[in-house]
Amino acid sequence: MRRSDIFSVAISNSMSWKLKKIIPARELLHQLGGWNSVVHNDKYSIKKAYKLLMGSFEKVEWSRLICNNKASPKSKFTLWMVLQNRLPTADRLSKWNIPSSIRCKLCEAEDESIQHLFFTRDYATTIWKVFIARCIGNTRLVLFVKRLGRPGSKLVGKDVKLGSMLGYFIEAVYAIWL
Ligand SMILES: [Zn+2]
Repeated sequence: MRRSDIFSVAISNSMSWKLKKIIPARELLHQLGGWNSVVHNDKYSIKKAYKLLMGSFEKVEWSRLICNNKASPKSKFTLWMVLQNRLPTADRLSKWNIPSSIRCKLCEAEDESIQHLFFTRDYATTIWKVFIARCIGNTRLVLFVKRLGRPGSKLVGKDVKLGSMLGYFIEAVYAIWL
């Protein structure tokens, strides 16, 4: 160690177990962008290193969406599963190599996906038409339901303040899943 620094020294069997543990951490430091990326005011900053290690996360808007209403917990849970694409629909089960047809068992017209179950099949579109008719005056919620029905749509910040009809929307999602 005397003639080299921690970034270039080779790990040898004669080193203490502590050094053998510490030296491989240089690889991690390298991945984080080197020493300068974890230094603040010439000192090592554990906060900076932690932030780099954890990476950046997408803000979870759906959590607020789910909390601010009076829907039942099981309905909220179902909506959460829908928004995360976690429901055990046939298209997802097939990705886990669980043998079954991925065609929708109810209409055989499309693959069974969240998109199909909740938005494109006749049963769901009928429910949403009735729902949207009842939502007259709450254009924000109507837009929200229409937008969720489009592939690749995401929640936006203002979706969390949809008013009292939001609870009914969540119950409707649960009713469709049942
Ligand atoms: Zn179907």
